[in-house]
Amino acid sequence: MTTNIEHFKAKLEEEQARLEQELSRVARKNPTNPSEWIPMPNEHEGSQADENVVADAIEEYEDNAAIASALEKRLNDVRSGLDKMKHNVFGICQICKKEIEQDRLEANPAARTCKEHINSL
Ligand SMILES: [Zn+2]
Repeated sequence: MTTNIEHFKAKLEEEQARLEQELSRVARKNPTNPSEWIPMPNEHEGSQADENVVADAIEEYEDNAAIASALEKRLNDVRSGLDKMKHNVFGICQICKKEIEQDRLEANPAARTCKEHINSL
């Protein structure tokens, strides 16, 4: 059984582009470290700095930070999947070094382990 690399590569590249687009809405790239994203607060209408507005802004910032962190984590997984393709180790479980099940890769092309070792990393 051979893993269809091109098929999964297309899926990963598509997801990478989507994740970067989503990240750019809630974060900006760190100018000194382009692989790091800095969450940004949303711009609020008006300039009334009463407590509620400040509280809302802080809450929004935390939301953006949480979203950015989840997106960044996923983006790293996707990048790592693409990187594995370059090194011909794509679709190999990081724990037992066996091939990852095709249906698991289909559901998540960035998977790092087979089903048996899904909680082992
Ligand atoms: Zn395994």
